[in-house]
Amino acid sequence: MGALLYVVVPCYNEEACIDHCAGRLLEKLDELAGKGLCSPKSRLLFVNDGSSDATRERLAALRQQDGRVCFLSLSTNCGHQNALLAGMLYAKDYADCVITIDADLQQDVNAMDEFLRCYAEGVDIVFGVRRARDTDGFLKRVTAQAFYGLMHAMGANVIRNHADYRLLSKRVLLALDQYTEVNLFLRGLIRSFGFVSREVPFDVSERYAGQSKYSPAKMMRLAMDGITSFSVKPLRIISITGFICVFFCLCFIIYDLVVFLQGETITGWTSMMISMWLIGGMLMISLGCVGEYVGKIYMEAKRRPRYLIAEVQHEGPQKTKDA
Ligand code: UDP
Ligand code: MG
Repeated sequence: MGALLYVVVPCYNEEACIDHCAGRLLEKLDELAGKGLCSPKSRLLFVNDGSSDATRERLAALRQQDGRVCFLSLSTNCGHQNALLAGMLYAKDYADCVITIDADLQQDVNAMDEFLRCYAEGVDIVFGVRRARDTDGFLKRVTAQAFYGLMHAMGANVIRNHADYRLLSKRVLLALDQYTEVNLFLRGLIRSFGFVSREVPFDVSERYAGQSKYSPAKMMRLAMDGITSFSVKPLRIISITGFICVFFCLCFIIYDLVVFLQGETITGWTSMMISMWLIGGMLMISLGCVGEYVGKIYMEAKRRPRYLIAEVQHEGPQKTKDA
């Protein structure tokens, strides 16, 4: 018999997608169980991330129809990363492995066969890597490229074109449970674990229905979290820029003295203004950057829970303990 699989699906206001998503994933579970790649007792675990539409009602109705559909409701909108974490950490007590996928099924579910084959061969982490980006709009494509470029430049360790479509074994889930940081960037964090991992390519399609739930502001936050939770490079860049500024200032002082000694007076308004704005701007950016890290320390120091579960609709197999 194959592994007991939990497919974790975060959903935020996905009433338009949820029926299609559950139908397609249940079909897939049957197919995978038929091939012996997963156990027939495998489950779908939806995480309702504080949706304000009928997502919860849709999930409850789906659960009535098929007991393999389970769901957690978070008390409020905690964000995609935390919703994923809530689902994975809940599933770790029951599942042999977990696959995370988005509710809009943009990721090709057929890649799961290969994910589970890798798992059967002893791979602990399987990263789904998207083949092409032609289904994305221009803006999404450009911002995604900029995102990965920036992440690499800033020293955050991420796989290009891997979103949160991946398989994790129980061992990895137990490891994940030991990381208590509030600033969560799963793509980078899981990569840093260092278990046996493999990349599996998949095709991306259009969102099934509804709008993207990642607003530009949420994307910016994710990028900032990615960089600041993995690297102190931005702080180093600030120091280096500071040194360069001081060096130029010294050159200027020498130049000024020479001009002064030659008896030429300079009006100097333009250079004054430029340097004032430039240095002012750089100081603001630097302060902001340091502030980002201080803010993170503040959040981590409070050790607040990353999400609160308001409701659990699941009766699973016996809790398992072994890795
Ligand atoms: N999502 C979530 N909480 C949020 C934002 C998004 O749980 O605050 C879920 C959303 O329902 C979807 C997944 O995260 O299942 C990915 O979001 P989306 O498809 O909107 O992002 P995109 O594919 O546009 O990057
Ligand atoms: Mg999507």
